[in-house]
Amino acid sequence: MPAWNELTVHEAKARLDRGDVSSRELVETLLAAIRARDSQIQGYLEVDEADALSQAEAADARRKEGRQGKLLGVPIAVKDLLNVQGQPCRCASRILEGYRSPYDATAIARLRAEGALFVGRANMDEFAMGSTTENSAFKITHNPWDLARVPGGSSGGAAAVVAADESLAALGSDTGGSVRLPASFCGCVGLKPTYGRVSRYGLTAFASSLDQIGPLTKDIRDAALLLQAMAGHDEMDSTSIPSPVPDYAAALRKGMAGMKLGLPKEYFVAGMDREVEQIVQQAIHHCEQLGATIVDVSLPMTPYAVATYYIIACAEASANLARFDGVRYGFRVKDAKDPIAMYMRTRAAGFGTEVKRRIILGTYVLSSGYYDAYYIRAQKVRALIRADFEQALQTCDALLTPVAPTAAFLLGAKTADPLQMYLNDIFTASVNLAGTCALSVPCGFTSDGLPVGLQVVGPAFGEETILRVGYAYEQTTDWRRRKPGDR
Ligand code: GLN
Repeated sequence: MPAWNELTVHEAKARLDRGDVSSRELVETLLAAIRARDSQIQGYLEVDEADALSQAEAADARRKEGRQGKLLGVPIAVKDLLNVQGQPCRCASRILEGYRSPYDATAIARLRAEGALFVGRANMDEFAMGSTTENSAFKITHNPWDLARVPGGSSGGAAAVVAADESLAALGSDTGGSVRLPASFCGCVGLKPTYGRVSRYGLTAFASSLDQIGPLTKDIRDAALLLQAMAGHDEMDSTSIPSPVPDYAAALRKGMAGMKLGLPKEYFVAGMDREVEQIVQQAIHHCEQLGATIVDVSLPMTPYAVATYYIIACAEASANLARFDGVRYGFRVKDAKDPIAMYMRTRAAGFGTEVKRRIILGTYVLSSGYYDAYYIRAQKVRALIRADFEQALQTCDALLTPVAPTAAFLLGAKTADPLQMYLNDIFTASVNLAGTCALSVPCGFTSDGLPVGLQVVGPAFGEETILRVGYAYEQTTDWRRRKPGDR
């Protein structure tokens, strides 16, 4: 029988309901795993043990009173950019040093209403800008499968703690791939919901037209469970859509037979790691054996996706990050002579290199004279990218693609070259530009023992479809049973 910390959310919930384990015991086991492993993995920025135990005891007491909740007593880790009342929320940045959230993000409030507990702040790239978690101002997270390698990013801490059984599940955010990429590199499931499906109220904004909150989990059923609890309209986020939330768990059971799955030909080209490509091809073949029909599709604007993404994301970030000025949140330099000097010195000292690079790039593409040449042009290309996806998804139910061109690479390998780093997002960022949904499901291991993810991309509000594909694949393979320690 697996240790409590190795359970999935749905398994833990069943054990809690049966009385096999209390929430306190579950959290104690997790805290022990964190103490034993996290000094190496460095997935968490903070864990408040006393607070975690008191949340668990409160859940046990509620259970005794006969109260219910789909996640009653289940601990979840949270990427450091989602507000949880009373907890620090630093976005892995010095500029938010000392800040504590006065309120819960809507996604958190909804999970809390189902009885979930929030046990720790997961490390990330500063303000979610990065693909490896090396841009955190505080620590570098290591990949549990090989400590010399990156966990992916920007939700790298969230993925690493799930993979290392230091959490049952985690919440991350995905602006250009930040849930799917670390899920692929760490061998867990990562889901980016459709733009508008989950409220972003209380998610620190990076690029508001792209950001979504998504779960990182040990299996597809858990992704469906967490999405179910978080999804739906919220009057605090005007971009959240008032359409009804389907029953995701029911969708899982439908299987893959009769489905049509498209392979975008631009995603299977030279430049990919050969082994990763073979693993993804095998996964596609497996889907065919499960009764899906594989068809070729085209996303002709693919070569422009990364450039378009970085123009739009930086432009929006430069505006969103203007609020961190030393007045309202967190850190402020001491003894500045006047307010302007205070703003400037606070921002110079508070933001890291990558964040500054993006604020400068974003300000540049929005400046008079360059606005039309860069920002407006990127918006036009974005419309074409969206049209590509709409067209391709008219001829099939979902797309199958790699998540990233490689498996996890060595720490430091790409930090000197931002362009190389940005190219990791080639298969993921266009989904955010199109605004649809996608997930990463483990589909094999390289000869070095590193996990590889298969991306399933769906149409807008097609979460049922991609979860159904992911589940049928997952249930007929056993990649998810392999653990980092087995190597
Ligand atoms: N790697 C991308 C970036 O650095 C995506 C980040 C994200 O999704 N938050 O912008």
